[in-house]
Amino acid sequence: MRKTDPSPYKDRIITSADTRDDVAQILYGLSLRGVKAVEVENEEKTPHSQIEGAKPPRFLILIETQNELEWRIAQDSIRSIWDAILEQHPRAVTPSGHCSFCGYDVERLPRPTICPECGVDVDSIAARRVVRLRRL
Ligand SMILES: [Zn+2]
Repeated sequence: MRKTDPSPYKDRIITSADTRDDVAQILYGLSLRGVKAVEVENEEKTPHSQIEGAKPPRFLILIETQNELEWRIAQDSIRSIWDAILEQHPRAVTPSGHCSFCGYDVERLPRPTICPECGVDVDSIAARRVVRLRRL
């Protein structure tokens, strides 16, 4: 763990992570695509989303390079890296088809789905992360 003040790197934050396993998977996923990244403690407790019940993540993942192409590669790949991490949580929806946050029945709504009751995008990485963290 490097102790680095994240504030000078604000514009280099590609994502955050909740556990050391997540950090390892994200750094590995980025390295496979030729992107070097490091993790720092989220000392300012910057939240990863505005979703109610979302805890501030423990780590921030920073891209080391100033190279714009690497930055774009990282941006293009972070969703698929998270999809792999969240494989067991494909949607923030209960087994009976209800929104995990408010209980509204979203089963038959078109996807991706913004819950009409609470406004959460139940297909988003952010919502899926909150649901998984509750069960970790
Ligand atoms: Zn909802």
